[in-house]
Order: sequence, then structure tokens, then C-alpha cells
Amino acid sequence: MYDVIVVGARCAGSPVAMLLARRGHRVLLVDRVSFPSDTISTHYLQQAALLRLREWGLLDALTATNCRPITDMTVSHLGVVIRGFADPVDGLAFSMAPRRIVLDKLLLDGAVAAGVEVREGFSVRDLIRHDDGTVAGIVGRDATGAVVEERATLVVGADGRNSVVADLVGADFYKVVPAASFIYYSYFSGLDWQFHSRFGDHEQCAGWPTHDGLTLVTAMRNLEDFEEFRADIDGSLRRTFRSVAPELAEDLDSHGVQEDRYYGIRYPDNYYRTSYGPGWALTGDAGYHKDPVTGLGITDAFRCADLLTEHVDQALRGDRPMDEALAEYQRLRDEESAGAFNFTTTLGELNFPPHLVALWRALPNNETARAQFFGMIAGVVPSSVFLAPENVESIMLAAAAV
Ligand SMILES: Cc1cc2nc3c(=O)[nH]c(=O)nc-3n(C[C@H](O)[C@H](O)[C@H](O)COP(=O)(O)OP(=O)(O)OC[C@H]3O[C@@H](n4cnc5c(N)ncnc54)[C@H](O)[C@@H]3O)c2cc1C
Repeated sequence: MYDVIVVGARCAGSPVAMLLARRGHRVLLVDRVSFPSDTISTHYLQQAALLRLREWGLLDALTATNCRPITDMTVSHLGVVIRGFADPVDGLAFSMAPRRIVLDKLLLDGAVAAGVEVREGFSVRDLIRHDDGTVAGIVGRDATGAVVEERATLVVGADGRNSVVADLVGADFYKVVPAASFIYYSYFSGLDWQFHSRFGDHEQCAGWPTHDGLTLVTAMRNLEDFEEFRADIDGSLRRTFRSVAPELAEDLDSHGVQEDRYYGIRYPDNYYRTSYGPGWALTGDAGYHKDPVTGLGITDAFRCADLLTEHVDQALRGDRPMDEALAEYQRLRDEESAGAFNFTTTLGELNFPPHLVALWRALPNNETARAQFFGMIAGVVPSSVFLAPENVESIMLAAAAV
């Protein structure tokens, strides 16, 4: 019998398992894959995520993995370019884009070091329930193919956007926003790029450094272009760069050497799911997923790990009922993420609405607003603050006065 069973051992699951174990709880963490294991992601980590890794004692291990720090950002929309970087946050003056094959293993190792019992190659198929329907544990197949049952006070689904746990408990979807775009990306050597995120008309291209001298190079377009793009991925990606950021296209064509295959995905819809009930909770993409255009998924998974740990710990210590603690967890998650969710789904259309176009055009000449913008990309200035009507109005007034 465990205090908590966590299903899914990547950005959401491993940290919550680690943090609960550090608070003295008995935790089982299972994943159907074995680590190191890659997954589809462009793996940009905001400074806010790195700050959590530092707080958890894992940042030094990450910086030792030969991943190039990001210290300079160029973001553009239809040729209006701004360049800069967020002010240091608690002395942290870089962001990073570590490969998931590295990051997720590092997080899992953190959980193991905290005393979490880990079972890899363990696929959850069903949930055990008490007579009143309260979830009491998991049923799964272990690495040998044997059917195994394990019981716990709480089962946490951290099993991603196709969450089996969420489906088994029938977690409702809410605030669903249909996906608007797709992505293709690969890894290139020979490029000396820092962070670029360049928006055109219904298209985006981007790139940033990662491990081993490689640069992630990516293009995003609206879903209606998917079949055409897919018919010639390399040509389509290079055409997107030529259309949106010609100087990067030239560098890519002249110096870039592709070192890996192309990875692509039509984005799944954006959503929230009810994330708690009797004996269960959801975290990470299982409970809340949005378009990757703002690169927030991992930062949010880390934030939720702290938030969920805090609330589950209160309940396991007997300080308050579990359902009350989990209700507050969901409420805070939704409140804190609402601004970013709305901004992300808007950007995900790859077609800035007029008010964003106007705001964007006001940024190049406004140092304070630019610093706020880069702070938002760093995850330390909430988008609800940067995009608050009074803040936007003051930026527009300053622009009108120039
Ligand atoms: C194309 C793309 C690009 C992205 N780029 C970025 C980015 O640049 N920055 C960023 O922050 N975010 C990005 N994201 C989002 C980010 O990848 C996700 O938010 C993040 O991976 C969510 O982590 P998670 O742990 O909740 O789920 P996942 O990473 O999906 O992990 C879920 C785990 O659960 C396991 N699992 C599933 N079902 C079972 C089962 N039945 N039994 C046992 N185990 C199970 C899986 O094997 C998996 O290991 C991107 C997403 C996509 C699709």
C-alpha cells in the first residue's frame, strides 16, 4: 500500500513523485516506457522552469549535460523585430532547451534519489475502486507482461495528453479550443543561433540551441496546409524560413547540416480537464494542455508539481480533507494559467489579431515594455500582467507619444 501512485514519469510525474517522497510519503512511480526515452517536444525551458530545477537541486546536473545556454532572443512578427533577453531572475541569466531524452531521465533520477519506487515498462490498464467508486489503486502489466495490482490513498495521472487515468475516471473536458496548427522540426549542426521565434502570416519558424552543438530548427503552419507541407517537409520548412526570416533561411541553406530526421505532429486540441475526484488527481498535460507555441508545457508541469505536492501533502498529513485540498489545487492551477492559456491559444492561430499587431508594433521603441515581454517569455512576468488592459493602454499611449 502506497500513499501515492503516480502514472507517467516525465516532466509532470517525476517531479511530483520526487517532491512527495522528499516530504516523507511512500510513492510508486510507473511508466510504460523505459528511460532514457525521447518524446515529441521542442523542449524549450523558460527561466521559471530552470529556477524550479535549481530549487529542487537538479539544475547543476542539467547544466553539466553540454546543453548550450540561451542568453539572447530575437522575436519578430511580419518583419517587426525585437531582440533582447529577460532580466536575470534571482541571478539566473539564461534559459535552455535540453533534449527530453536527457531532461526526463534526469527528473526520474531525482525521484529515485528521493526514495521513490520506480517501475519502468509498466503500463496502466485499469483502476481499482472501493465499493463507493473511490479510486484505490492501479492495474497494469509490468515489464514481464504479468498483470499487477497496486494500491494507494491517491492515484495521480501524469500520463500526458492521452491520459488513460483521466479517461478511466471520466474526467470532463472544459475550455476546449480546437488546435489550429502543426509543427515539423529537426536538429542541425553548423548553425550558431541563439533563440529565434519568427511569426509570418499564418506561419512561424523558429530555432534554438540544444545539446552537443546542435540547433533545433522548426516550422509551424495552419492545419489546412498540413498535407501540402508533408508532401515535401524539407522544402516546405525551408520555404517557411525564406518567407518569414530570409537571413535565417540563408544561413540554414549555407551552413546547416541536418543531423536527425524530421519530427512532426498535428497539434491536439487545447483543453483543461477536471483534475481531481475521490482517490485520484491529474497533473501536467493529463489535466491541462495547450498549443506548444509559447513553450509553456514543461514550465507548467513543474509549477503544478509544486502546487499538487503542497496540497496532497496537507491532506496526507491530515491537515485538511483530500477533496478540499485537491479542489484548491485545481482552482489555483486554473487561475494561474488562465492568462497564458488565452494568450497561447490566440498565438497558436499563427495570425495575430489587430490588437496584438498594434501592441507588437509598439514594442521596438519601448524598453520597459520589451523587458516585460521578455520577462513573459521567461515565465516570470505573467501574461495576465503584460497583457492587462491598463498595461497595454500605457504601452500604446507611449507609442502614440513618440
Ligand atoms: C510538438 C511539441 C512541442 C512542444 N514544445 C515544448 C517546448 O518547447 N517547451 C515546453 O515547455 N513544452 C513543450 N511542449 C509541451 C510539453 O512537451 C508537454 O507539456 C509535456 O511533455 C507534458 O509533460 P507530461 O509529463 O504531462 O506528459 P508527457 O510528457 O506526455 O509524459 C507522459 C508519460 O506518461 C506515460 N504514460 C502514458 N500512459 C501510460 C500508461 N497507461 N501507463 C504508464 N505510463 C503511461 C508515457 O509513457 C509518458 O512517459 C511541446 C509539445 C509538443 C507536442
